[in-house]
Amino acid sequence: TASLEQADPDIAAAIKGELGRQRHEVELIASENIVSRAVLEAQGSVMTNKYAEGYPGARYYGGCEWVDVAENLAIDRAKKLFGAKFANVQPNSGSQMNQAVFLALLQPGDTFMGLDLAAGGHLTHGSPVNMSGKWFKAAHYTVRREDQIIDMDAVAKQAEEVKPKLIVAGGSAYSRAWDFKRFREIADSVGAYLLVDMAHFAGLVAGGVHASPVPHAHITTTTTHKSLRGPRGGLMLWNDEALTKKFNSAIFPGLQGGPLMHVIAAKAVAFGEALRPDFKVYAKNVVENAKALAEAMKSHGFDIVSGGTDNHLMLVDLRPKGLKGNASEKALVRAAITCNKNGIPFDPESPFVTSGIRLGTPAATTRGFGVAEFQQVGGMIAEVLNAIAQSSDGKAPLVEAAIKERVKALTDRFPIYQ
Ligand code: PLP
Repeated sequence: TASLEQADPDIAAAIKGELGRQRHEVELIASENIVSRAVLEAQGSVMTNKYAEGYPGARYYGGCEWVDVAENLAIDRAKKLFGAKFANVQPNSGSQMNQAVFLALLQPGDTFMGLDLAAGGHLTHGSPVNMSGKWFKAAHYTVRREDQIIDMDAVAKQAEEVKPKLIVAGGSAYSRAWDFKRFREIADSVGAYLLVDMAHFAGLVAGGVHASPVPHAHITTTTTHKSLRGPRGGLMLWNDEALTKKFNSAIFPGLQGGPLMHVIAAKAVAFGEALRPDFKVYAKNVVENAKALAEAMKSHGFDIVSGGTDNHLMLVDLRPKGLKGNASEKALVRAAITCNKNGIPFDPESPFVTSGIRLGTPAATTRGFGVAEFQQVGGMIAEVLNAIAQSSDGKAPLVEAAIKERVKALTDRFPIYQ
């Protein structure tokens, strides 16, 4: 019955510190968001105590009547939100949802295609350090050098050559629209399955401001914690009943044991929130804000990979300023602007250094930032980066401290978790 503060002051202090950090930083990590109190409450609930191996109505444990209510609500809301016939809400993470697709549809050694990590793909799409790249043969497609956009004719040609069993579309750092229809045509032409991993832009699909892959893909996967603004976890959606047993048994018992019922309850809450009209406004604002931030960065002399963005994120090419991603990320963090270094297509630098940073608008849009605030943020980023570009050691303590003060004033106007 002791509170966390009484029972474990060290962890209580770490959580308090993290809350303070989130309150007084500008969060630009494209894969992060700020969940509602209701999502936090569901996730911090007694449902964490429950074992519920299996699926609603067919569990391997007794006492599942209330977790069944939560999981059925999560499934029904996910199906409604994305217009899918079937949903599995149990994946513990984005990595596990993609592993489940590989387990369901491929044999070790099979060839598949995915977007190259350096061009914006994800680790689970065939990186040599990930199981997807170690146990399967990954053939990567990439973007055109001239405009850094995916060349669909090249994808079609490559598919013809390598005859993949699976084609993966979607990624973590690609700012342009995806041609799902064409991807499906290419997959069909070589007898491959199409997986669309919409983890990054799922919130935009839910909000109706991004094309939906669900009608086109054999299987659509998404994390629930990025633009979708739910708890950390994964979600799988499909329309073909013949695939249902494959996907469900790949998650359990194929890869996972007892599902995280507290997280599933929180997913249901988040899907409920995303079904409400205000989420459409949120999604529209995320996209508008990303365009404004991209324009602001360009006006301050930075390049944006592919020249702009159609979604919630962008890659900033720092080479016009002679800067590297790692030093830039660190300086911005010292100024309370949080983002991550990121490779850019055909990056001459290693993944630890990089020539770019990735910026995204979902989190700061949640706290209420609009176009004016994102223009201000663009100006602050430029001040910090211009200052470190002129310093000999990649640090500009005076400018960084001044911007940190301005960030505090800005974030105080948009409080979170009051
Ligand atoms: N798929 C994509 C496109 C992602 O961007 C990510 C996360 O960065 C994942 C999958 C993996 O999600 P998780 O970090 O929950 O394993």
